[in-house]
Amino acid sequence: MTKIIKVFDSISEIVFPENIYCICCGDLIPGSRVHGLCDACVEKLKWLSENPFESRLDEFSFDSVTSLVQYDYYAQKIVHNLKFHGKSYIANNIGRLMGELFLTSKICDDPIIAPVPMYIGKERSRGYNQAALLAERIAGICDAEYIKDLLIKTKRTDSMRTARAFGRLNALDNSIELNTAWARKIKGRNILIVDDVVTTGATAEKCSEAIKMAGPSSINILSFAAVNYKGN
Ligand SMILES: [Zn+2]
Repeated sequence: MTKIIKVFDSISEIVFPENIYCICCGDLIPGSRVHGLCDACVEKLKWLSENPFESRLDEFSFDSVTSLVQYDYYAQKIVHNLKFHGKSYIANNIGRLMGELFLTSKICDDPIIAPVPMYIGKERSRGYNQAALLAERIAGICDAEYIKDLLIKTKRTDSMRTARAFGRLNALDNSIELNTAWARKIKGRNILIVDDVVTTGATAEKCSEAIKMAGPSSINILSFAAVNYKGN
């Protein structure tokens, strides 16, 4: 819990406009709550203090996973508001928290930050890639380099949200590719891939595999929420 407490300490004095709504329950909250959550929802969210993939990292090609909260009912409400209800401003709130988490967690130095890519047609219809909004916000908080199109999604995979865990790797196939225009730039660099939710790790793994061939120093995953494998 220590690092989470630090996160809230470090942002508690910054003032934002008044009368904003809790990004979880929709209640009016004081404008000073830059994380966008009312007290009740801060209490309800299960803040993660450990890497949810710690015991399974040898199954993957990325080096670390860091997530802010457990993906429970309340975290799901926040993510759904961000993804499916057009509330893109939520990315400012949780992106800020994720940026503060990155700074306090010392995941890696001087990273290149990039989002899990979204298929271009899907991004056009939604209006934004929520992972890209988060990644850009985090890069701003951390004063780090942001490359939106480091990875490209070449195929639409609609079934991902409901696919069963064991089927997800196959469902993805080779639909995530490195943008070769950036290949030389990422050699020897620390890479931070941002997503809203990490579930099985299959999407993160595909991103990591695509980047690996360009020889980065490390590949790290940062998400707002994670399924807690210890609890499953
Ligand atoms: Zn609330």
